[in-house]
Amino acid sequence: MSDLQHSLRTASPEALGPGNSGSLLRVIADAVPASIAYYEASTLRCRFANERYARSCGQSTASILGMHAQDSVGATTWKIIEPYTRRCAAGEAVRYTREQLDEQGQRRMMEVHLIPHLQEGRQLGIFVMIHDITHHWQAERAVRESNERMRKFSAATQESLVFHKDGRVLDGNEALERLVGLQVADVIGHSILDYVAPEYRQSVIDYIAQGREDTYEIAVLHRDGHSIPVEVVGKSMPHEGQEYRIAVLRDITARRQAQEHLAFIALHDHLTQLPNRRYLTEQLGKTLARLRLQQGRAALLFINLDHFKTVNESLGHQVGDTLLCEMAQRLKATVRACDLVARLGSDEFVVLLPDLGLAQEAAQVADKLLATIGRPHKVGGLPVSLSPSIGISLFPEDGDEPEELLRHADLAMAYAKESGRANRQFYQASMDARTPHEELRLERQLREAIARQEFVLHYQPQVHLADARLAGFEALVRWQHPERGLVGPDEFIAFAEARGLITPIGRWVLHEACRQLQAWHAAGLPTVPIAVNISALELRQRDVLADIRQVLHDTGLAPQYLEIEITESVLLQQSGTAAQMLAALQALGVGVSIDDFGTGYSSLAYLKRYPIDKLKIDRSFVIDTPDSQDDVAIVTAIIQMGHSLQLRVVAEGVETPAQQALLQRLGCDLVQGYGLSRPLAADQVRPWWEAWQARGGLTPTP
Ligand code: C2E
Ligand code: MG
Ligand code: MG
Repeated sequence: MSDLQHSLRTASPEALGPGNSGSLLRVIADAVPASIAYYEASTLRCRFANERYARSCGQSTASILGMHAQDSVGATTWKIIEPYTRRCAAGEAVRYTREQLDEQGQRRMMEVHLIPHLQEGRQLGIFVMIHDITHHWQAERAVRESNERMRKFSAATQESLVFHKDGRVLDGNEALERLVGLQVADVIGHSILDYVAPEYRQSVIDYIAQGREDTYEIAVLHRDGHSIPVEVVGKSMPHEGQEYRIAVLRDITARRQAQEHLAFIALHDHLTQLPNRRYLTEQLGKTLARLRLQQGRAALLFINLDHFKTVNESLGHQVGDTLLCEMAQRLKATVRACDLVARLGSDEFVVLLPDLGLAQEAAQVADKLLATIGRPHKVGGLPVSLSPSIGISLFPEDGDEPEELLRHADLAMAYAKESGRANRQFYQASMDARTPHEELRLERQLREAIARQEFVLHYQPQVHLADARLAGFEALVRWQHPERGLVGPDEFIAFAEARGLITPIGRWVLHEACRQLQAWHAAGLPTVPIAVNISALELRQRDVLADIRQVLHDTGLAPQYLEIEITESVLLQQSGTAAQMLAALQALGVGVSIDDFGTGYSSLAYLKRYPIDKLKIDRSFVIDTPDSQDDVAIVTAIIQMGHSLQLRVVAEGVETPAQQALLQRLGCDLVQGYGLSRPLAADQVRPWWEAWQARGGLTPTP
């Protein structure tokens, strides 16, 4: 009980009476920031009221005296307060709150105390004391609402939230319960380290100690013992002079699985699960490095199945696939465990024999393979025989580098085919394909082509899957050969690179693409960007960034309409320079796409590190969808991974309505391919665009 309440309880009623209205008590009562009144218990008539109370009843301190409580407060209020008044009149101290409108019509919250006035066991009256607690109530309500909002936020998010102080858990949300498999109540009070996999505990300690707020990755321990990879970001939250932290944890299992899956598929053939060309080249590189030091030898066996195409066409692709898997098994079963069997594609396999003694041993292995592979297979009850042709190259005699050894083994294999198939041949220098004379001629022609600008660009449209809007064009170079007609880039880009002729071609392409696009914009075609391919070697050989600035300046094209397509290898080979270049492109406003994605390392690490806008799924993954489950899985993984990194995903080589429908279902953003349009000569672009609009975009073409 407050002092004021105490003095009121023990005061004599006369001290409050009208005769004493000028007394010290009245002065005090009027000065107090509360409404005060005194009612006689037996009659409920007012015997005293301070000014504030009287005013609130629409009376003066004099006019209210003698009034019945019901009359002074009015009928409506009386209805509400009568039960409290009765309780107090029966001797109980009562406290309640009630809302009331003030003179301005604002809602106010009042706290009312009714205190019985007792003397010698007899109740004489009721003291009324009313405080305005509106401010307090509003503040409380704001806190309540804000807590409620916080609870809703944290329950709504998929991300786990943990509140902690110095590593002791204070609170968490529902997502946290799912993540660790425990109720929040059971986690509270424990050290957060109890839920972190041991190898990450030190970094958690460091991040907390240093108050770091950047994102990092750890693994969380689930109650049943398995660990879950998560991305964490912690934020310091000072509260009432104390340092609290909130940690937000995001489960990245799906992303990790996609990453691991991609790492595997990047290095393996999907049909046979054998290592692919990439894996082979890498492994070969390592083996050769070791053998150089040890002065050892190795052999490469290049194996091609004779007449496989015919078998495939006559018995069907499914039988073809089964036969290829069977071949893979036989190859692996015939060689030693330390030998490597890879599949390069279609019916081409390579066996690497490291640590070879004599060249003759390679011949013995090849003969064994001729025998095992040549054994008939049973297909639908009928025997089918597939003989191999095998070419052999030796390290160090036939080459010092993986690519060279592969090329030479391949040549020897072609020689074996020419020599009647089902046999093996060692590589000989005389087998080299393009004679030096032919190479010189090609180089001369290419130089002339550059001088006479015998190149043209074709443009392939890219469209949004969601609404069929045109999204841009990719510029693809062709060589207008005087005798051979249009020659595709696959036939001359690599050669131009090898002969140091890529720079002038690349410069011309960039300039022409920007010039053409600017002209289309001016002519009223949609203002979409154009993508230009830049090879890894071009990036190393010339200052591409300076060229881009120059071309944008010369053609007047705004930077956001230019995109550069690079392959994953660029990011891997020259991480320092790549980072600088990509940052500069981003600063300039030029977009960057990763071309042929999935055929390289497909690693998240560098995708996260660099400012990239788009991933282009290589068309080899799209081609067999939706029939190939493996390829559907790969495409799904790439789309999911791209989106988790906020990248737009483009599918290349989309040819059929079924592929389009699948990609649409998987949430792929953009498509490009023959199904929408082949690459078009510049003057075909407008007619295509008009026809495209007329038929309403993506509606499946027959
Ligand atoms: P890319 O950048 O992956 O270009 C896409 C290639 O796929 C183009 O072949 C295109 O014609 C083809 N394509 C598009 N849709 C389909 C489809 O539905 N089915 C099939 N089967 N193919 C489709 P293209 O024009 O022969 O270009 C081949 C490669 O040459 C390009 O692959 C690119 O890496 C390179 N290239 C093209 N132009 C340039 C250039 O100006 N500079 C450099 N450095 N490289 C270029
Ligand atoms: Mg491209
Ligand atoms: Mg591509």
